[in-house]
Amino acid sequence: MGRLLAIITWTKDLCSLFCTQSSSLQPRPDPAVQEAARSGQTLHGSTGSRCGDGVMWISWCLWALVAICAGDQFRDEAERIMQETPVIDGHNDLPWQLLTMFNNQLLDEKANLTSLAHTHTNIPKLKAGFVGGQFWSAYTPCDTQNKDAVKRTLEQIDVVHRMCQMYPETFVCVTNSTGIRQAFREGRVASLVGVEGGHSIDSSLGVLRTLYHLGVRYLTLTHSCNTPWADNWLVDTGEDEAQSQGLSEFGQSVVKEMNRLGVIIDLAHVSVATMKAALHLSKAPVVFSHSSAYSLCNHRRNVPDDVLKLVNQTGSLVMVNFYNDYVSCQKEATLSQVADHLDHIKKVAGAGAVGFGGDYDGVSRLPLGLEDVSKYPDLVAELLRRQWTEAEVRGALADNLLRVFEAVEQVSDHTQSPEEQPIPLDKLQGSCRTTYGYSEAPSFHHQPRALLASLTTILLGLCLL
Ligand SMILES: [Zn+2]
Repeated sequence: MGRLLAIITWTKDLCSLFCTQSSSLQPRPDPAVQEAARSGQTLHGSTGSRCGDGVMWISWCLWALVAICAGDQFRDEAERIMQETPVIDGHNDLPWQLLTMFNNQLLDEKANLTSLAHTHTNIPKLKAGFVGGQFWSAYTPCDTQNKDAVKRTLEQIDVVHRMCQMYPETFVCVTNSTGIRQAFREGRVASLVGVEGGHSIDSSLGVLRTLYHLGVRYLTLTHSCNTPWADNWLVDTGEDEAQSQGLSEFGQSVVKEMNRLGVIIDLAHVSVATMKAALHLSKAPVVFSHSSAYSLCNHRRNVPDDVLKLVNQTGSLVMVNFYNDYVSCQKEATLSQVADHLDHIKKVAGAGAVGFGGDYDGVSRLPLGLEDVSKYPDLVAELLRRQWTEAEVRGALADNLLRVFEAVEQVSDHTQSPEEQPIPLDKLQGSCRTTYGYSEAPSFHHQPRALLASLTTILLGLCLL
């Protein structure tokens, strides 16, 4: 408001100066000023005097300045809020960029995160964007399934840990909500690991538990491929066949074990049947770490309205993806269209269900105005312009994620017995896997059909005798 008053005062001074000068000096008419004055006369019926023309011209400028000033006010307000409540983003693929650009060699000069070029994310951009919490994606593509998925996932977790080690003034690796709040106070980026794709656990509850011990705090149940226990979104486009009709029995064990451990269930990338199965089964709220609203852009990676209602009922969270293809269903998109998704999710699922999951460094096309991680304050300014309350904005920035994370932590119970039932051997594929445990100690659980066949043979044999 102070800036607005200063501009008005300055404009008044300019106006009086203009009037004084035009009456005393009588310079040659400036064609541009004349044109502006003529427009003023036509629109507002101004007096025909030279000073009157000038007043109209200045008035026009004043309104333009007021508009610019008001825009700045929302931006200033956004920064004020974000100083206290920085953004926690649900999904960033910088670790994938570090793998593909530098084979995870952080000591490479070009990999310096302070000056890293050609990426959406680096340290100066994170600071400019008021990023205070980040789920870094430990991602390995679907073609590693049944091959080296676990090894590659471990390497992506390791590179996040090394980021925290190399840049301790910027990043601090944390594993709980208390750690995030502490990082906010220290002005560092709370760094968490999310594993993107159930294939990363290679159908093993033991691997899931070990990932938890390495600090992983969300697991996306699938990437863009089915696992032997959960269906992915391509089932809904008809490109993949449904295998588990959502979650298989083993898939349900995975969800229960994640609840027991305190790993957030992430439903980005899964089929609608998987979304519904997990939302019904999970004892804790879930997240969509990087998905937008299906009814605004009919892409199957997005969340349909009936699922948004379940999100509301379960206190869950949708962290909006900025990828143009999910925002506008076209190659181009704008910041305003991303705000439309935030508005829609707020309308259908409530303000407590909204978050940001930009998918930076994981996508090739980003909206005009949201080109890199430094742009979050512009999106927050747009929400304020759309009359989101301060509490709603703080919710979308961090409070909603913190609420979900705390609920997940409360549901977790490490005194409960772990899930132990392995996936049936016949569900596993791939030639580079051994079968220890299965082949050496077959049991009714492991090979029910084989056991049943043996019993039948024995009984038939007895009858024949
Ligand atoms: Zn993704």
